[in-house]
Amino acid sequence: MKIYPISHKQTYMYVIGSGERYILYDCLWQDSFPVIRSGLKALGLSFSQIAGLLVSHFHPDHAGCCELLRQHGVPLLVIDEQIPHITWLNNFFRQRKNDPEGLYVPLSVDDCKPYSSAAASSFVQSCDIEGQVILTPGHSADGISFIVGQTAFVGDLPTLDTAEAFGDEVMTSWSTILSTGVTEYYHAHAGYIKLSSPCRPDTDTTFDLISLSQALMNDLLS
Ligand SMILES: [Zn+2]
Repeated sequence: MKIYPISHKQTYMYVIGSGERYILYDCLWQDSFPVIRSGLKALGLSFSQIAGLLVSHFHPDHAGCCELLRQHGVPLLVIDEQIPHITWLNNFFRQRKNDPEGLYVPLSVDDCKPYSSAAASSFVQSCDIEGQVILTPGHSADGISFIVGQTAFVGDLPTLDTAEAFGDEVMTSWSTILSTGVTEYYHAHAGYIKLSSPCRPDTDTTFDLISLSQALMNDLLS
């Protein structure tokens, strides 16, 4: 399985897959579309190879390009619990102060086919990606994590080393994640975190460039 981060304005999205088809986990800010497009191009991927977009939660730094990606043929895998949060996001960006250049393209709920987390997991598996979508509220009521093998993608869920301070809901979400047997995770702002070592979240801003070039290098060597 290959994992490629793409970052913009201190936020990561992830391109996950192998072979021909990939899943996007998150789509950054309302002005991130050119970054996503060039990131995929640098990876040698076309939009037609993106089997679906999962959104960790519908906050502006993670769900800003849903409609633009949909218009480029990327299927949205919106989970039932996330549907009410789309309206919140559209209203957030409708305020000029949050989108001064008017770049956000609203996502119509009518254009979203809601999936249960189980149905989204089945869809992903039908694309030859051994992935599982699980509900992990805590940072946001619509939070979902994506488990692929022993790797978790957790969005904005507070990092495990700080989770206790955020209360029971976050702790319950983490125990669900850990029960899948993951050994590492990718956070939407803190980047890559290995569970076996007591490391701090990686706040090095060069992380994305280093790991992207390493990912490309691994790809070239494989
Ligand atoms: Zn958030």
